[in-house]
Amino acid sequence: MRVATVAFVFSLPLVAGPLYAAELPIFDAHVHYSHDAWDNLPPKEAVAILRKAGLKRALVSSSGDEGTQRLVAEAGDLVLPSLRPYRTRGDVATWVRDETVITFLEDRLARQRYAAVGEFHLYGADAELPVPRRMVALARQYGLVLHAHSDADAIERLFRQYPEARILWAHSGFDRPESVRAMLGKHRNLWCDLAFRSDQGAGGKVPAEWRAVFTEFPDRFMVGTDTYTPERWHYIVEHANWSRAWLADLPAPLAERIAYRNADALFAGWTPARSQ
Ligand SMILES: [Zn+2]
Repeated sequence: MRVATVAFVFSLPLVAGPLYAAELPIFDAHVHYSHDAWDNLPPKEAVAILRKAGLKRALVSSSGDEGTQRLVAEAGDLVLPSLRPYRTRGDVATWVRDETVITFLEDRLARQRYAAVGEFHLYGADAELPVPRRMVALARQYGLVLHAHSDADAIERLFRQYPEARILWAHSGFDRPESVRAMLGKHRNLWCDLAFRSDQGAGGKVPAEWRAVFTEFPDRFMVGTDTYTPERWHYIVEHANWSRAWLADLPAPLAERIAYRNADALFAGWTPARSQ
């Protein structure tokens, strides 16, 4: 199984990869390396994919934090660690009411350094539950970006709990550009990833409604693949090149911001942990 998977990885059509990579670095702000990805894609091969994609950095979080730590150990220059409140995939549905999640987060935060907490899934009034509230308090204590897969309602509640929070809104909430624009206008510490959506650049063209939001808020967007299942790791290179294609439809300074400068700026204060 492992041999077959690795063979697949290296047989990807990469003709355009090095050319694109030379043109535009990408900061992939939405990568997971969860427990079900480790066996068929060991850390060395995973990092090889990230490098082949021409990524300058990747924000990585994993269900079972060990996956993130394995990638940090393999490529500390490339991997920015984020702490998910999930020990396994199953925690996605139950974490907001599971007090043991807090113990898990406290334990990890005491041992390792992170740039962010998340990606977590949190909707509406669930943001007021004790477990998410405690997670937000920990993010404040450790100065971590919140990477939230949330509706606009939950984002508003997170900012009410922690007005100085820096929130990275996963998938831009899967919201329409006009709604994203309204949220960005209200919250200057809100950033948006464009992971797992294609409406902003299908066919290598940026539609007018997205172009207007990117132009009005050039400092707030970043791209991401979202490897929420192991198979999607094999899409990282293609996603980087697909992103370069639609970014080329924007003025170069704006394209560079969305490709990597905005994410670099958001995480500028973070430096890799000293080896322990
Ligand atoms: Zn995700």
